[in-house]
Amino acid sequence: MANNLKVEFTPKPAGHASAKLAGRPKEGELWDVAIIGSGPAALTAAIYTTRGAASTLIIGGEIWGGQLMLTTTVDNFPGFPEGIQGPDLMNLMRKQAERFGAEFIEKSVAAIDFDKRPFEILAGEVKYLSKTVIIATGADTKWLGIPGEEKLRGRGVSSCAPCDAPFFKGKKVLVIGGGDSAMEEALVLTKYASKVVIAHRRNEFRASAAMKNRVLEDKGIEVLWNTEVKEFIGDSKLERIKFFNSKENREYEEDFDGAFVAIGHIPATEKFKGKIETDERGYIIVKDKSKTSLEDGVFVAGDVHDNYYRQAITAAGFGCMAGMEALRFLDKSVPTW
Ligand code: NAP
Repeated sequence: MANNLKVEFTPKPAGHASAKLAGRPKEGELWDVAIIGSGPAALTAAIYTTRGAASTLIIGGEIWGGQLMLTTTVDNFPGFPEGIQGPDLMNLMRKQAERFGAEFIEKSVAAIDFDKRPFEILAGEVKYLSKTVIIATGADTKWLGIPGEEKLRGRGVSSCAPCDAPFFKGKKVLVIGGGDSAMEEALVLTKYASKVVIAHRRNEFRASAAMKNRVLEDKGIEVLWNTEVKEFIGDSKLERIKFFNSKENREYEEDFDGAFVAIGHIPATEKFKGKIETDERGYIIVKDKSKTSLEDGVFVAGDVHDNYYRQAITAAGFGCMAGMEALRFLDKSVPTW
């Protein structure tokens, strides 16, 4: 039915907010909100803060857009019944934030001083001053770093079963890892793939008992213990995988249509180390709503604090929350700057 769906857009009413709502301070002047990051959390936060008439600077990084820029079709973001390419989705979100007056700079943060008020952020040799900061730097997939991985990413090699599993209907797929993520990926994949295999480097899973048992009891999932993945092989798409069985000291190859790397994520919190409270893995700790340990004016959104859902739509939701909290803080705060 989806193919026959005809979307009729309602004409924009008179007074449709096409004008920029937020001001743009000149160099050296004070911003209301500085957002660090440029994925769905960052850009959604910017849509909210600019629509709240708060001047908003997005420090988006030299390579902007986050994980979705590396994704092909996104089929699970509401509003796109035919799916949308990851980079197209990010471009639309950026346009929407800029439409209301957000200033987007493709620079990375070099240093940030949370002790000063207003906050001082150095990016591309320019010092920016801001009353509030929203940290939305995201997290990066931890990849194996083996031959063929980079070349075949999006061509059979993935890191997100909820996003890509439907593309592997009736195919043979491998999941790499032994934690909860790997278990979850494998269970999602059983709904689509004809065969699901997990390769884990040790002889027991790290995953929680409940997840582990679900996988081990699932007749549709095979486990390769003590097995490392050494290479992804294929020209335009994944065709074969090279394995090393450490117990048998044996290297071998096997045909696969897809491979899902699920060995964890790395939050992009290097710049905030020692300045803001994180958990032992580096994820920023949310204190209350979107607040961080730096309670007055520093907020957090998206995968940089959320290691659980890690979806574009949840990141966007967290961005909305952080944007609204920043607006509340700006309204309530007694400016000392
Ligand atoms: P994780 O718990 O750190 O597990 C990562 C897995 O990948 C481990 O089994 C590890 O092997 C393996 N691994 C790491 N580096 C590797 C490498 N270079 N080569 C091969 N294997 C490698 O990460 P996660 O599974 O993403 O989970 C992260 C957190 O999110 C956990 O706290 C988890 O409970 C939570 N989570 C929960 C759910 C849920 O409850 N539904 C779903 C997803 C995640 P070793 O075991 O040998 O170290």
